[in-house]
Amino acid sequence: MNQPAKTKKLVVGWFSFSCCEDSTIMMTELLNDYYDEWSKVIEFRYAKILRQDKPLGPMDVAFVEGAIASPKQEKDVKKIRGFAKKVVAIGSCAVTGMPSGNRNSFDEKTKQEIKFLIERFNLGEKVKKLEEVITVDAKVPGCPMNTDLFLVAVTSMLKEFHLA
Ligand code: SF4
Repeated sequence: MNQPAKTKKLVVGWFSFSCCEDSTIMMTELLNDYYDEWSKVIEFRYAKILRQDKPLGPMDVAFVEGAIASPKQEKDVKKIRGFAKKVVAIGSCAVTGMPSGNRNSFDEKTKQEIKFLIERFNLGEKVKKLEEVITVDAKVPGCPMNTDLFLVAVTSMLKEFHLA
């Protein structure tokens, strides 16, 4: 007997903060192999790289790449957390704060030299890993992200929401 078509999909968002966005590139490369499979069970509702920007709203999973470097970013990522049932930190910058957070370990002299940049771009005193700002449910380490572990995280989220 034919299985009824699944209508519910995992609603996800993909967000980038302070980083080089290489994990975004890795994710889009994975679409070459997984688009058909994922399009049946995943809706990329909020992902600037894939579609026009949409006003933020409820989602099952937010994948968040990059470190948090300013009060504005803290506010934005807290808003995302408020809309997402689960948050997955993507890549070393989100998971550990590094390498985006290199300036945290600058000596005092260097910190003084870059002070005008911190002020000009309204940056925070310290670059933070995601977990220092919001609750994180899962992590995909790597610089850029380890794609095998990302696939594990996607499968685990699909299972958690009873879609796999
Ligand atoms: S973890 Fe590495 S690849 Fe990913 S954003 Fe940071 S620097 Fe770029």
